[in-house]
Amino acid sequence: MGVYGIDLGTTNSAIARIDADGRPEVMIGMNGEPTIPSVVLFASAFDHLVGEGARRQARLDPEHVCALVKRRMGDAEWRFAAHGTTWSAPAVSALILKSLAADVEFGGGEPVGRAVITVPAYFGDEERRATIQAGTYAGFDVAGVLSEPIAAALSYGFGRLDGSVDVGKSDARETVLVYDLGGGTFDATVIELADRRISVLAVEGDHQLGGADWDERIALYLSQQFCAANPDAEDPLDDSAGSQMLVLAAEQAKRELSEAERTEVVIAHDGARAVVPLTRAEVESMTASLMRRTVDLTRDCLAAAAKRGVASVDRLLLVGGSSRMPMVERELRKEFGLDGELRDPDLSVARGAALYGEKLEMERLILADLMTRGRLRDGSPLREAAPADLEQSVARVAASFGQPVGLVRRMVEIQVDTVVSRGFGVLALNSQYGLAAAWLVHRNQTLPVRVRRSFGTVREDQDQIELTVVEQQGQAASMRPEDTKVLIEGRIRGIPPGYPADSEVRVTFEMGFDGVLHVTAHHVDADMPLTLSAQTGATLSQADVARELDQVQRTRRRTG
Ligand code: AMP
Repeated sequence: MGVYGIDLGTTNSAIARIDADGRPEVMIGMNGEPTIPSVVLFASAFDHLVGEGARRQARLDPEHVCALVKRRMGDAEWRFAAHGTTWSAPAVSALILKSLAADVEFGGGEPVGRAVITVPAYFGDEERRATIQAGTYAGFDVAGVLSEPIAAALSYGFGRLDGSVDVGKSDARETVLVYDLGGGTFDATVIELADRRISVLAVEGDHQLGGADWDERIALYLSQQFCAANPDAEDPLDDSAGSQMLVLAAEQAKRELSEAERTEVVIAHDGARAVVPLTRAEVESMTASLMRRTVDLTRDCLAAAAKRGVASVDRLLLVGGSSRMPMVERELRKEFGLDGELRDPDLSVARGAALYGEKLEMERLILADLMTRGRLRDGSPLREAAPADLEQSVARVAASFGQPVGLVRRMVEIQVDTVVSRGFGVLALNSQYGLAAAWLVHRNQTLPVRVRRSFGTVREDQDQIELTVVEQQGQAASMRPEDTKVLIEGRIRGIPPGYPADSEVRVTFEMGFDGVLHVTAHHVDADMPLTLSAQTGATLSQADVARELDQVQRTRRRTG
């Protein structure tokens, strides 16, 4: 029993679970580290290497090394080609997940069966589905996907929302801004902790912004300095091994400059050599626009939270490895007057995921317990249980798993409210604008959502209805179809004649805490449901899935 929590990161990944005392514990991998680089080396057609080894080999064999795959999640067209085979983003990610799972077993842990996997808050439906797919390829039962900032807030807030907090008091309420700058992604989130609830009030983020962009800027500077010192040598950025080497050196220098004011980078390439001095101030100046972009997005996030009644923020949590750069804390203090707290920037997401997994597991057990005893109807949510029944069930579950009752109660009581990261709607004919997007679910709306909207058929005896489900692109929900992304297309075919124009077609959108969308539609009078299928190319075909699953299972993991 037990659910593992996995931070499937752009640059690094980690896996955690709840220990016997109810505390989230990050598993140490075979390399002796709590995180592994999210890098896969396809060593041959039959085997692969994940983690630090793959990252180091990147220099010698760049064509066969896949890094930053998370940026490709949800891109159905993208493939990594190696040794005559292609790999989708979920398939590459599955190898990282399998490697984490293998490390757990190597360390004597229980095999990974169920897992919660985290995703950036702004991941849309396709990216979330791709993440679930990765988990399925790895052989996990994916208990849920959880937004990274919520996971970070959960691991931070769990200790604060315990029995010691008097929920009746106003000071039990706390608003937290989570600034999460990882290797390849940036997220700003405003979260409220109150009344044993963790609520996400606003999210902002950039898929393509992270520490790797800092590395690139520094690498560019290093190459310029190298070329100036060695006019006859080839630019290291002109070949892939050279640029890999330069980016690794840049990343190393960046880390050093989080501690020291200056460092030196030795570059050897094409038979030439240069020693480039580098100061923290220089790096800060060449990456100022990147930093500014995170500040701007943070400001947008605060503005969105303000619209939901957040007048001020009590705390600033700094998450993600890149938050270690001194410029982050300094600029945020200057801009927002908040002192950032750097807590466990690499591991808090995995810990929060483990906490959430445990919560889901406890709820599942209590639900099953109450149903078997006839205290709750099949299919009813836990909140409908009578308080006395719930308390008894909590005690039973706690006893059977040797957990403190208070802990199990707290797990069940804490509510996690999250918001929709993008709007979802349908394309419908609009008398004024022609074909336009009608938004049923709005960005920053609280999850779970269940929205129903009725549309009318266009003409009499209409024998077919087409439904196009779209997702918002960009910050604002535009009505123009070209500004939207088509997610799913569906049809009701063969509607018998006899129904007038404007016959009711009822569309229902449902989205659970995982942010994955479920759509149903219904021609009410004809009592005909709609069959929905993902847009061609938007997801993998069944044959692709079977082939990739086989591929993921067959490739052997090298461990050295
Ligand atoms: P994460 O995705 O949260 O694991 O963050 C990884 C990113 O954090 C990478 O871009 C690292 O280069 C960066 N990082 C880790 N440690 C440091 C440090 N001490 N100073 C600056 N950046 C760091």
